[in-house]
Amino acid sequence: MSSQPKLCQTIMEGIWERVEVFNPQADKDRLWEAFHFAQEAHEGQKRKSGDPFFLHAITVANILTDLRMDVDTLIAAMLHDVVEDTPYAHQDIVDRFGSEVANMVNGVTKISGLKEVNKEARKAETYRKLVLSIANDPRTVLIKLADRLHNMRTIEFLSQDRQQAIAQETMDVYVPFANRFGIAKIKWELEDLAFKVLLPGKYFEIERGINQTRSERERLIKKLLIPLRESMEKTGVKCVITGRPKHFYSIYRKMEAQEIGLERVYDLLALRIIVETKADCYHALGELHTLFPPLSDRIKDFIATPKPNMYQSLHSTVRTPQGKYIEVQIRTDKMHERAELGIAAHWRYKEGGGTDAVGLGEMVTMLRQIMAWQEDVSDPREYMDTMMSDFLRDEVFVFSPGGDVFQLPAGATPLDFAFRIHSEVGFRCTGAKVNGRIVSLRSELGNGDSVEILTSKTPNPSASWLDIVKTGRAKHHIRRWLKTSRFAESVALGRQILERELTRAHLHLKIDADLVDVAQEMGYSELDKLLAAVGSGDLNHAKVIGRLTPRNASAAEKVLTRGKELYDSLLRRSSTGVRVAGVDNLMVIYARCCQPIPGDSIVGVITRGRGVSVHRAGCSNLSDPNLGPERRIEVSWDVAPDQTFLVKLIIQAVDRKSLLMDVSEVLNLSNTNIQSGNFSSEGDLSTVTLVVEVKNLNKLEKILTSIGKVRGVQSIQRYQLN
Ligand code: MN
Repeated sequence: MSSQPKLCQTIMEGIWERVEVFNPQADKDRLWEAFHFAQEAHEGQKRKSGDPFFLHAITVANILTDLRMDVDTLIAAMLHDVVEDTPYAHQDIVDRFGSEVANMVNGVTKISGLKEVNKEARKAETYRKLVLSIANDPRTVLIKLADRLHNMRTIEFLSQDRQQAIAQETMDVYVPFANRFGIAKIKWELEDLAFKVLLPGKYFEIERGINQTRSERERLIKKLLIPLRESMEKTGVKCVITGRPKHFYSIYRKMEAQEIGLERVYDLLALRIIVETKADCYHALGELHTLFPPLSDRIKDFIATPKPNMYQSLHSTVRTPQGKYIEVQIRTDKMHERAELGIAAHWRYKEGGGTDAVGLGEMVTMLRQIMAWQEDVSDPREYMDTMMSDFLRDEVFVFSPGGDVFQLPAGATPLDFAFRIHSEVGFRCTGAKVNGRIVSLRSELGNGDSVEILTSKTPNPSASWLDIVKTGRAKHHIRRWLKTSRFAESVALGRQILERELTRAHLHLKIDADLVDVAQEMGYSELDKLLAAVGSGDLNHAKVIGRLTPRNASAAEKVLTRGKELYDSLLRRSSTGVRVAGVDNLMVIYARCCQPIPGDSIVGVITRGRGVSVHRAGCSNLSDPNLGPERRIEVSWDVAPDQTFLVKLIIQAVDRKSLLMDVSEVLNLSNTNIQSGNFSSEGDLSTVTLVVEVKNLNKLEKILTSIGKVRGVQSIQRYQLN
């Protein structure tokens, strides 16, 4: 044991020496100060392995030195568990090492004393805090990753259960973070360490297989390297070529994806060619392909199109004279550094006075944006899901009709794309074409899809859209829209209802003047909120009337008692073509899903804030549990003689020249107006969609019969949206 403080000292000396090399101007005395402070703070604390606790902290700093991080980050790494596990507090760190260091330490400190007992909620809250601190200072994520890396390296000392849980969390959260920030160096190791814990059988199978064929592979590499080096030299391209075994987890993923055994994974090994300039990359690729034929579909140009984490490289799989396949990566040394270090490279360039090499600013802006969208999300699960899909998951690239490229998370739908273009496009979206074909708004977009959004003049979001979209941006806009539009509609309806009831009760009161006090008495901060509550059905209008002055109490009483019988017995004529039991002048809308017309038997459903919607009795949407019996209301037709209704018809027919003409001829003869029409054909079948004006069901049936007689027509359907 006594050798371990010495070990810490040795590691610290190593850190100091390397900082001296890559950052000679740094104030290295502060490093020693932090070393002594943290060592003293953790004095006597041991890890499960029996090692002194401080060995962990100094190792985390050591990992970050490999990433060539700045001095503040290294200090924060040494102190990263001080606030959590020792008597020192945030302010102690501020006083000694400044607020930048203290804030980084705070960012990686677990949240303690959380109210949520729920494990999931606690996890999400901790996670939200981490994301917040990363957005404030992205160096936090590097410390957190290095911390996790050392914990994974020493995981064997924990119980089986803890090992499983930590490895799973590493795979689910930390690996995606490392990947997103482009830190391949840490990502691969974390992935392989977690893989070993989660699927030990598979891990050791791959390890054995690789060891058995090691010498064979080494010979192969030699055979390839010599001609490759020679030909590169001839063209004057300076390069360094290395062979490296693939990481176990990536081999495993390949075996799983292609359902093959290890012996059939042909590129267990990869070659890397590092050159000086971007042009050299393409020269080298050309040279490589003249020596070894490429597997043509496996060339990837991440130089022209970098990955979102800014990774750049050329990838090609080539065939060797021995009939083996091998993956080759070609990149400049700058691209290589960025590929290995990701955002960590940023501080290197920063200290060297260079530019922001890794698009860090964009990443941070994006994180902040995502967090702003998520502000109103209270469900921890949803928060994590959206965060994962918006920021961490794989992405797809899609094209607008104008050829602009848009990046969306994998699984995104055309509706996400619509909101990505502009919230207005999203709101007015009615459908989408992907690669020229009409698709469902729910369909997932694929890489390279060309997406065109169909819009209407008026916005039409609905709550069901929240299930369709995957991006935080779209969810945020839809939620906001639903909130404000519903509110406005409810206010208007509430006002209508109360005005009507005041008149009925012979109360000569003005809503805006006389109901303000009532609203306050009833606990509403403003009148509109009371009106909205009435309009949405959350507050019974009779209760409001009852609150009015005692002078009016008896009148209010009348309204209250009248309630039930009135609703049951009175049938009053509305101005819109249906009578609604007991209610005057209520807003009536015809359900768009089934488009009822006089003659259809109908059912009324009280909606939140949109009056009564009228459905056909057989409409499949009525089986929705949200439209249960307590929201039904009796309605009947009461049509003015000249009133017409719109019906959408879908006619399928054998494709022939004058089909459309013949159909419209028939409609003309029966004096039926066509409001709009659409024609499409696929193979020899064509589909005619017509919106026609009819007075009633009787009339519609006659029309259907005559259209049915048109040559080639195979079926006619009344539109019903499911
Ligand atoms: Mn730690």
